[in-house]
Amino acid sequence: MTTTTMAPEKLTPGKGCDADRSLADLLIRTEMGTKSQVSHLPKRYMGLEATELDERIEAARKTLGDRLVILGHHYQRDEIIQYADLRGDSFKLAKAAAARPEAEFIVFCGVHFMAESTDILSAEHQTTILPNMSAGCSMADMASTEDVLQCWDDLQGVEGVAGKVMPATYMNSTAALKAFCGINGGLVCTSSNAQAVIRWALDRREKVLFFPDQHLGRNTARKMGYSVDDTLVWDPFQPLGGNSEDDLRRATFILWKGHCSVHKRFTVEQVRQARERHPGINVMVHPECTMEVVDEADYDGSTEQIIKSVSEAPPGSKWAIGTEINLVNRLAHEHPDKLVYCLDPVICPCATMYRIHPAYLAWVLEGLVEGNVVNQIKVDDEVAHWARVALERMLATT
Ligand code: SF4
Repeated sequence: MTTTTMAPEKLTPGKGCDADRSLADLLIRTEMGTKSQVSHLPKRYMGLEATELDERIEAARKTLGDRLVILGHHYQRDEIIQYADLRGDSFKLAKAAAARPEAEFIVFCGVHFMAESTDILSAEHQTTILPNMSAGCSMADMASTEDVLQCWDDLQGVEGVAGKVMPATYMNSTAALKAFCGINGGLVCTSSNAQAVIRWALDRREKVLFFPDQHLGRNTARKMGYSVDDTLVWDPFQPLGGNSEDDLRRATFILWKGHCSVHKRFTVEQVRQARERHPGINVMVHPECTMEVVDEADYDGSTEQIIKSVSEAPPGSKWAIGTEINLVNRLAHEHPDKLVYCLDPVICPCATMYRIHPAYLAWVLEGLVEGNVVNQIKVDDEVAHWARVALERMLATT
């Protein structure tokens, strides 16, 4: 992961590190350190300068017109967001694609699981494309289908637990795991609706198996009035997840041992320092942060809730934000009348979101102009059916 150093209010490039420069001026072969990271990109795109990429992307967009919609996740860099027809979090974007039926091609600038959800929720005639197929999510990768199926089998083998567990997955998971939830009576949640989803689950069964993010699961349980003692962590590398049968019988929340490498970096100390430096500051963090950080902050909320809070705050207000740096810097730029900065002085952008470079966007768009679909995301029909069931259950709860 690329790290850089920043002062509280202002980016200051770290010595020898290019991650906080405007990446539009970096050739992709310079930016991606290893050959394997650009292995699928045709060589002719590797030496293109930012201005040429920009002209070619705009020309392709113009040619494709309404046949194309480009979706940009909030965590994408500005050099990509500038081309997005729609901006949002993963769920908002997945739904947005369905609302643009005239668009034959949906180019999703985000990570793999998001493009899968878009394919699942979009119409039959729409094609979803992820510009760089290596743009995954390290949190989603922490819950493999095989490990979750093994966990499920183990739980069904424990007396007093079997038949009492509802599976619930965060949006940040593969389509196969969403389908697993659909098949087993469970559902999907986002960071905005996790409480409503878990309430729905606990109205129907005594326990919830929540994956892949233990922190969102724990923070949600606490907000619902449960204590940490009502939760336990399932470590897929340990027999019975590292728990005794009695532990499993006692717990209401079985939380998968997964986390977001970006949000886990925020600390209680950073929150305290923000308050010391800027008395009266509002500290808002994402619920993928640890419980201790969420407890210390003034507010926690999803990406969309963070944007809304800062946007609606009065001029002159001060905000220290605990979420991905591209979003925080954009908020700071869009609200010059407020102080907005990232809690973490050592910036660490989401490394996989970062893999969408304008060179990849140019490649896939020019392919479409020439009649070639590259990097299509196509979820198997059976998987898509059951994943849709889990997503629709979520929609019915909120
Ligand atoms: S910010 Fe975290 S959860 Fe989001 S895509 Fe990156 S690694 Fe995954």
